[in-house]
Amino acid sequence: MIRYSGLPLLIRETLQRNKVTIVMFHDLPGEAAFRAFSFLVKKYNVISLEAFQEAHRRGDLSKLPPKSLIITLDDGHISNYQLLPVVQELQIPISIFLCSGLVGTNRHFWFKYKRKELKPERLKKLPNTRKLEILAEAGFFLEREFDTPQALSKEHVLGMKHAVNFQCHTVFHPCLPKCDREEAWEEIVESKRALEEEYGLEVDTLAYPNGDYSDREIALLKEAGYRNAITVDFGFNSLKTNPFQFKRISIDDMGDVDAICVKSCGIWTFLMGLIGKQRWNGKMEPIPMKEVLSVLH
Ligand SMILES: [Zn+2]
Repeated sequence: MIRYSGLPLLIRETLQRNKVTIVMFHDLPGEAAFRAFSFLVKKYNVISLEAFQEAHRRGDLSKLPPKSLIITLDDGHISNYQLLPVVQELQIPISIFLCSGLVGTNRHFWFKYKRKELKPERLKKLPNTRKLEILAEAGFFLEREFDTPQALSKEHVLGMKHAVNFQCHTVFHPCLPKCDREEAWEEIVESKRALEEEYGLEVDTLAYPNGDYSDREIALLKEAGYRNAITVDFGFNSLKTNPFQFKRISIDDMGDVDAICVKSCGIWTFLMGLIGKQRWNGKMEPIPMKEVLSVLH
């Protein structure tokens, strides 16, 4: 209903027209990606993250096309290797944020380790060391090698890097503000080093795991030589957006075109946020009215 109401079109032609939209996927199989990306190509101008970063640094977004949209994927899930033929056929740029401790190994993402007693949403709220203790009691260790991989292999990354912009998503995907300073620094610095030295990548951007960050993380990123960071804070990007707080809209991985349509224009997150059913700038609470208005600026 929302798709055919005309609202997404209205938003694209007003709020999104002169701003840059960044969307986020995760574990998106090839066929779903083809449907999703084809829709985005029709309705938006898909540009590279680097083109936006460069224009943002120069302080001039006027050369970017109207309704610019950037496609990103977090975590480097193994299904991402299916995206290479898709982006080649559609001739579009995408960016994938890798966890350097997972890629090229049979280690698993801690938040995908399913045990009845483990609730990822609860674990994310604990100090990182406590979270790791609880996971260890349930048989999970960050460096444990399982029988099958969950992340892209080294060959995948090297075989895709001519067509995909790989950037950083820390080493082991902790919620950074739940780490002590030393752990957070290690996650930020070591991931950049490993991706650059072992994969020959140029890393200057980090996507905060779970979208969680604080002023401390921004300071650490600057100190470590990053130039940008990406959140899951709601909204569209302009010159006013802080380069360490680029905004991003989450889309699910089903490749359902109705969902892609209402989610890529932000209306879904917005409506869910109004009733407190969607994380809104880090919090699971109804959107404060002053933040509703700030979206329009
Ligand atoms: Zn992630």
